[in-house]
Amino acid sequence: MPEVMCAWCGARIRESPVEHSHGICPSCDRQLRGVPDLSESELDALPFGVIVLSVDGMVQAYNRAESELAGRHPDEVIGRNFFTEVAPCTAVQAFQGAFQLFCAGDGEPKTFRFTFRFPSGSVRVQILFLRKEGGAAVAVRKL
Ligand SMILES: [Zn+2]
Repeated sequence: MPEVMCAWCGARIRESPVEHSHGICPSCDRQLRGVPDLSESELDALPFGVIVLSVDGMVQAYNRAESELAGRHPDEVIGRNFFTEVAPCTAVQAFQGAFQLFCAGDGEPKTFRFTFRFPSGSVRVQILFLRKEGGAAVAVRKL
């Protein structure tokens, strides 16, 4: 049986005949499931970045960890378009295209690796899209 790694934390998922949903370990699944419903201060307490986007890409929330990773203050990005104004490097099929498909789909969490290109340099991250009413929560973990 092939070894399955958690796509979010990298931990080895025990080999089992039971299919694990989306390759995310049970403990990450529990932690991530509630993220879209957290308050602003709860989002700020998370050890990984979270950006809440409307379907058309407007930034609705931007937590502390993401602010530190990207070097941008939430006030600079909330209310602006993530794909065109905040992070144009994400206006590609692999990110924006995947986001649009996710929003139009059945809400199954989607995870993939991406490279953010900040003025200060490139940062490899794991991205996870989570269903939220009217858009999605984008979780960002530095690799
Ligand atoms: Zn995990």
